[in-house]
Amino acid sequence: MTAINRKCTSGDVALVGAGPGAADLLTLRALRLIQQAGAVVYDRLVSEEVLALIPAGCPCFDVGKSRGRHNVSQAEIGALLVQLAQQGLNVVRLKGGDPAIFGRLAEELDALDSATISWQIVPGISAASGCAAATGIPLTERGIAQQLRFISAVDKNSDTAQDWASLAKPGQTLVFYMGLSALSEISRQLIAHGLSADWPMLLVENGSRSGQRQLLTTLADAATAAQSMALQSPCVIMVGEVVRRQRQTAKLMGSVRARLAAEMAA
Ligand code: SAH
Repeated sequence: MTAINRKCTSGDVALVGAGPGAADLLTLRALRLIQQAGAVVYDRLVSEEVLALIPAGCPCFDVGKSRGRHNVSQAEIGALLVQLAQQGLNVVRLKGGDPAIFGRLAEELDALDSATISWQIVPGISAASGCAAATGIPLTERGIAQQLRFISAVDKNSDTAQDWASLAKPGQTLVFYMGLSALSEISRQLIAHGLSADWPMLLVENGSRSGQRQLLTTLADAATAAQSMALQSPCVIMVGEVVRRQRQTAKLMGSVRARLAAEMAA
């Protein structure tokens, strides 16, 4: 790769949470780093709205992966980050949501550490929080859900079994990431391990983005209902009594967002 803006010393790498999609859900630190980036390496889940904040002329690398179609391997991503930093660039590694939640953060930190590249982590709003806010539900509620669990429905060691018995319990909210293709299995297991067939489930597609859709359903009906709506990734699956306690805030949120966006633009 040609050196860009070569300096004598290494640059560093900021592993930055891009949030669930809406650009005004970025942290101020993330925004500042994006505006000052020497290079940006980003994932498939980073929204167009966020990518539009990258200054013109800044070299950008799309290393997006979709399930089952890995364009760029994790080792190649690590090597790219190292290579760009060694060219003296301050690199922003943009990841959807929070980089520390199901974001392969450990592998990238290992690659940077082995090349003694300095790094920082900038948290972002994870899909669970973004989708709960955008649909007006509390993720925990006194007397209803004292626990909140984030679960990856896929694991690179796919023989690691989920602990379904501990998941199929009242008093908690489950948020499954990357779960759409495993939806019927998730429902089947939760029912088999003791939750009732009419236990509530909320699916949120494209949470916080312009194409946001949601489906409030039950364990038993989820797979058929999701199929008839043709729900697609990115989508979180929330399970628990809190999802029945959805508030009607969508309109209010929309107007608050419009006002904030106008203030940011002013
Ligand atoms: N680090 C990310 C999660 C990466 S795993 C985070 O903290 O949010 C990718 C999964 O996140 C997707 O399969 C989907 O389940 C969820 N996801 C990410 N963004 C989403 C969005 N805007 N709406 C719904 N689900 C989302």
